[in-house]
Amino acid sequence: MSLVAVRSGIYARISSDREGDGLAIGRQLEDCERLAGERGWRVVERYIDQDVSAYKSRVRPAYRRLLEDLRTGSIDGVIVYHLDRLHRQPRELEEFFDVCKAAGVDDLATVTGRINLSDADGQFQARILGAVAKKESDDKSRRIRRKHEEMAAAGRVSGGGTRPYGYAADRRTIRPGEAAVIHEAATRLLAGESIRSICTALNERDERTVTGAEWTQQTLRRMLSSARISGQREHRGAIVATAEWPGILTPADTERIRALFNDPARRTNKTARRYLLARLLRCGRCGATLVSRPTATGTRRYVCASGPGFGGCGRITITAEHVEYAITEAVLFRLDSPELAASLQGRSDDPAAAEWQAEADRAQAQLDELATAYAEQLIGLQEWLTARGAIEQRLQAARKKLATLNRITALDGYLGNASELREQWPEMPLSRQAAIIAAALDHAVIGPATPGRNTLDPSRVTFVWRG
Ligand SMILES: [Zn+2]
Repeated sequence: MSLVAVRSGIYARISSDREGDGLAIGRQLEDCERLAGERGWRVVERYIDQDVSAYKSRVRPAYRRLLEDLRTGSIDGVIVYHLDRLHRQPRELEEFFDVCKAAGVDDLATVTGRINLSDADGQFQARILGAVAKKESDDKSRRIRRKHEEMAAAGRVSGGGTRPYGYAADRRTIRPGEAAVIHEAATRLLAGESIRSICTALNERDERTVTGAEWTQQTLRRMLSSARISGQREHRGAIVATAEWPGILTPADTERIRALFNDPARRTNKTARRYLLARLLRCGRCGATLVSRPTATGTRRYVCASGPGFGGCGRITITAEHVEYAITEAVLFRLDSPELAASLQGRSDDPAAAEWQAEADRAQAQLDELATAYAEQLIGLQEWLTARGAIEQRLQAARKKLATLNRITALDGYLGNASELREQWPEMPLSRQAAIIAAALDHAVIGPATPGRNTLDPSRVTFVWRG
């Protein structure tokens, strides 16, 4: 270590598209500044990247500048809150090591600990912390891994701890009661029911996991997609052998379940695909949003759910077919009406989508400038966070406008032309139908059923139109 005070740079990466992390950023930087103080390091530069959302540009100008300053020797120490802020890919970490080595920089301080980059242990620690490398070179872990691989290839049971759901403690003997639950859940899932609704149904019947806990969507999903329950041995995410224990489902079931979970349309929201009115119906008694929940025999329904995590009164149920028919008819009728044309006319005063996009881009650019201003110490932390809040509000507003315009776009070509829409309706994909309905209808309130009445009573539906 040199006796000269280290001239250090603080690096921070912040996500501008995540709401409410202003405090976290403040803490990130404060902790880094304090750490510099404790070390007696002089902070000569602050490098701050505004991280745009994952699908946008991955360029990080401040990070490139940091590397450049390390190369030229204008800084000789780096402080970062945590390594995951500094690097997102293993390749970046290796480049960082190279630059540090060439520049003779061997100190990297993180708030979670100091890392000595000059030796193999330090670099190894950095890799682990960055979650970028496995302990490939470690003999011991390699031996353990090989043993696991061998056992897996032989289809042998593995692991201690909690027994797997559906099987006894020997991990081989099927428990009939739990096997029946697995069958039921798999059948309902493959029939199109959402994991959430199955989960609620199981919990309502007091079915429990092996630890006695209520099922969550995660635990149920993990259980159903495991290859173990179809008698297959899995190793590191891949099915490697037929297991030595019997299956409860067939391997084909597991394949279908996994395909279903990997379906991108399902990943966002399953219920939106089979249920036309997902999120558009509200309970006439308590105001909760109705959720889709078929009966045991598969009749599709929307219900006010009172189970865990729902908070409804549980007292309103309506057959999906009935209400979907009624609402579709009403929407098609209304799209032909002067009222809707007029209400959409009013909104066409909005600037075009391109202008709102420009506003969103402007706000984003200002966020970037602001971060730079802070990094260059033209403004203080508090000023930055305050200004940031206002700009983010503008950004949100612009995005909301864009979303509204997209809704109107869903109606393009159909306004005042409902007969054509009606003709095409049955052939349209559900998502398109849903988009058109949501463009016209804000929501509908479902009132209590008339006792003894089995068909739809239209007076149960109150429409709240957009515009
Ligand atoms: Zn309710």
